Amino acid sequence: MIFRQMFDSVSSTYTYVMASRVGGEALIIDPVFEKTDQYLTLLEQLDLKLVKVIDTHVHADHITAMGSLRDKTNCITVMGEQAPVDVVSMRVSDGETINIDGIKLTAMYTPGHTSDSHCFHYEDRIFTGDTLLIKGTGRTDFQNGDAELQYDSLFNKVLNLPEQTLVYPGHDYKGHTVSTLGEEKAFNPRLQVSSKAEYVEIMNNLNLPNPKMMDVAVPENMKMGLRLEKQRQVPSLDVASLLSQGQDNFYIVDLREDNERAKSGFIPSAHHFPYSGLDRHLDALKNTDAPIVFYCAVGERSAMAVSIALASGVKNVMHLVGGFEAYKDVTNPFFTTATS
Ligand code: FE
Repeated sequence: MIFRQMFDSVSSTYTYVMASRVGGEALIIDPVFEKTDQYLTLLEQLDLKLVKVIDTHVHADHITAMGSLRDKTNCITVMGEQAPVDVVSMRVSDGETINIDGIKLTAMYTPGHTSDSHCFHYEDRIFTGDTLLIKGTGRTDFQNGDAELQYDSLFNKVLNLPEQTLVYPGHDYKGHTVSTLGEEKAFNPRLQVSSKAEYVEIMNNLNLPNPKMMDVAVPENMKMGLRLEKQRQVPSLDVASLLSQGQDNFYIVDLREDNERAKSGFIPSAHHFPYSGLDRHLDALKNTDAPIVFYCAVGERSAMAVSIALASGVKNVMHLVGGFEAYKDVTNPFFTTATS
């Protein structure tokens, strides 16, 4: 396995790059905007194809590179379903897996530092974001932070994993790089408490100044998606047009992954070509008579897929603005999901 821990010294953020092999698919966790070129260089040197980029939560201390990496590589952006961001390609729930070639990460919803905080578990290691730091825990005094929920996330979830599990945090300010859950249980001063009340008391009396970049980073990180105006910059159609022209008159392609379809539903007549394997279907799409309509969850992947298909010579291809979320709103407005 390829595993790289990279550091942004301005925000003391750790970013992780993972791939199962040289020449394979890669994912990046918590990338920092200013380091975008450094990640791209590493990916190129190791001949990796970036397919997914994940943020553990909306960051307050740096601007995420999710948007810049998506724009440069057409990768899928991933966050938890509670993330208060305008658009990410894919939202994951507690227990859901994030798959790339040879690697499966499991999402763990661990609110407390923020209401959207997630940890991601992979075999012998856990990426803890700001939920668990080395000899510390993420502050809980803004972005809907909640010390009681953080106690539950830590003591009833993260610390239930085996003690030898490696801890890779979202930040470090003192020079630590990695720890284990056993070490943190034994030596992390915030975890040496005998009750939830005691933990809450500690967290509510930290009196920390706000992060320097908070007023810039939080709003910026909440609107990094390919918004609707941008989704319309490639050939597109709205749900109303699709329905009025008759779905059967189109060759509809669902670009989402199996677990998203199982969770949210799908358009019954649609073909299923997951975005990450779209390349394999482009030749077949060139021979399709009916106009092609791509759709995904919110319109981000499908907009990128239209550009990819057009560049490879596929004609008469467009995508559904707003994705399946928009489709569901129109066809079944009473069907609610965690993201709506
Ligand atoms: Fe944070």
